[in-house]
Amino acid sequence: MLNEMQLQLLNKAREVQKYRKLDYDNYAGYVGCAMLGANGKIYTGIDIGVTCGIGFCAEHTCISQMIMDGETRVLAMCAVGNNTFFPPCGRCRELLSQVNRANKDCEIILGYDNVKTLEQLLPYPFWTFTSTSERLTD
Ligand SMILES: [Zn+2]
Repeated sequence: MLNEMQLQLLNKAREVQKYRKLDYDNYAGYVGCAMLGANGKIYTGIDIGVTCGIGFCAEHTCISQMIMDGETRVLAMCAVGNNTFFPPCGRCRELLSQVNRANKDCEIILGYDNVKTLEQLLPYPFWTFTSTSERLTD
């Protein structure tokens, strides 16, 4: 069972998740996301999908808003779309990890009885290799 804060994140993600048809085949709001910052504020965002794959995920919107507000630490997040929980994609997992390495402890709500940490979903973020990469030999 989700706790009160986790349910609040789920509800916020559901509030902003609303499919919107844009021009041509483009769309927005297929996924809605809510993130709890260490400052206690909840940030929300939606995805944008446009031709040529140049859109972005709902998590990007949340993180951008957090950074504009001076926050990078995410305590918990939830994304939903098409009446399902949405796990963050690999790129978003990496983004969460790189804006603040402490986000490895971020709770990611994947279901009513399924909450994982970012570290569980991304055990080897890119920065762990860049700082310890083995040198090439001749
Ligand atoms: Zn993503």
